[in-house]
Amino acid sequence: MLHRVFGYSSFRGAQQEIVEHVIGGGDALVLMPTGGGKSLCYQIPALVREGVGVVVSPLIALMQDQVDALTELGVRAGFLNSTQAPDERARMESAFVAGELDLLYLAPERLRSDSTLRLLDRGRISLFAIDEAHCVAQWGHDFRPDYLALSMLHERWPDVPRIALTATATEATHAEIAERLNLADAKHFVSSFDRPNIQYRIVPKAEPQRQLLELLRTEHAGDAGIVYCLSRASTEKTAQSLVDNGIPALPYHAGLDARVRAANQARFLREDGLVMVATIAFGMGIDKPDVRFVAHLDLPKSVEGYYQETGRAGRDGLPSTAWLAYGLQDVVQQRKMIAGSEGDDAYRRQLTGHLDAMLALCETVECRRVQLLAYFGQRGEPCSNCDTCLNPPETWDGTVAAQKLLSTVYRLKSERRQRFGAGQSIDILLGKQTPKVTQFDHDALSVFGIGTELTDGEWRGVVRQLLARELLMVEGDYSTLALTEASADVLRGERRVMLRREPSRPARAPKRPKQ
Ligand code: ADP
Ligand code: ZN
Repeated sequence: MLHRVFGYSSFRGAQQEIVEHVIGGGDALVLMPTGGGKSLCYQIPALVREGVGVVVSPLIALMQDQVDALTELGVRAGFLNSTQAPDERARMESAFVAGELDLLYLAPERLRSDSTLRLLDRGRISLFAIDEAHCVAQWGHDFRPDYLALSMLHERWPDVPRIALTATATEATHAEIAERLNLADAKHFVSSFDRPNIQYRIVPKAEPQRQLLELLRTEHAGDAGIVYCLSRASTEKTAQSLVDNGIPALPYHAGLDARVRAANQARFLREDGLVMVATIAFGMGIDKPDVRFVAHLDLPKSVEGYYQETGRAGRDGLPSTAWLAYGLQDVVQQRKMIAGSEGDDAYRRQLTGHLDAMLALCETVECRRVQLLAYFGQRGEPCSNCDTCLNPPETWDGTVAAQKLLSTVYRLKSERRQRFGAGQSIDILLGKQTPKVTQFDHDALSVFGIGTELTDGEWRGVVRQLLARELLMVEGDYSTLALTEASADVLRGERRVMLRREPSRPARAPKRPKQ
């Protein structure tokens, strides 16, 4: 099948083992990074085993493409989803019942309807493949309630093997998938999550648009890539700015008309050297092998999200860049978003946990790859292909600086009626007589001018790192800085604070090993 249908000469990684296990009727939980080759793991068993392979996938927008690609190879594939015309659906249903299909793709919400279940009873099923299985986990970053219903597959069709696949899995998510999908007896196939051809870099955010432009011009001229932004407005703005600078770019976000979205996606897949500027609505299931860079202009909300998004670079195995610009404002904004989010305390704690892990990755002075793999419970060696390996950052003892900053925040906080953000504290530390400083007599504070040993940018770095470690927090609509419980330990001199040195000038691109 591998040669004849798919035209490949050999299996990759654990594919063969997985394929044989599922052909033999066993359940499997497959954790493989994006681009690892998950699809073959269920497509080949579906072709070998008698009956139709039923694939549950949340990626409705991609079903047509997947089916087209399979049809091209001579595989009899179809799908059932809400976008379909009734007669097309009826045709697909009778093909399924007659056993004239090898693979049938279904959106998860289909399985909540009795009519679909009765339909499935009328045909012969070779296996269930549950794609993007992390969507069943509430502790993940992409939970979809429809996935919870999938636990019944096992009860209703106990003899049909199931294979659940995902590219994201911390140990917590992994355990939740196994539990919720009733996969207690499944064999687990865990691949390495390392993507050695991706160079990870996280840089301080100064002027993001200019920094992005420089990255594209100096290292990725003419390359296809994805730029992720948090808001719809900033995807539009960034795409326009790239176009104005002669770089072909398109926006993509959930607010665009479905036809525009589909057209932009199709162009990105088809044309060379296009840059897609998108919110995270873009990318799941996109199989474009030559994406040479993934750039983030805003901080992702979790390491899992970051890993998935950056994983879309370099599926062809050639050197690629994962670049993230991250700054003080990102931390402030995300902490505020969490504080203001709906949901209970447990939910907010979960979001905070996700964010803290992402911040730890940003602030680490160790190899990014080692840290990333550790997050997924895997071990790695310093990689010489990430920014911290190539230009090891210096650390410095920032205890005194932290004490000065925290004292300033404390003094401002005691002025009950006024609210001041990071800028005011920094101006005070630097002894700047700005109008806002003199207006509030802040030049009379004992902390005024005690921090001239650092620059404005360095102080921002201190604030950012203290926020990242929850030695400082933001409050209210004006992003007022405030002390946390842990701040007291620093102020009392009971806790040393080692900080990452801010680069004095924008970090230059590290050298890339040539292939
Ligand atoms: P995933 O779903 O894990 O992200 P895919 O199944 O889409 O990955 O596969 C990624 C790419 O690798 C696809 O272009 C696929 O055709 C290719 N591929 C998968 N398995 C093999 C193999 N054994 N040999 C060569 N190419 C493969
Ligand atoms: Zn490294």
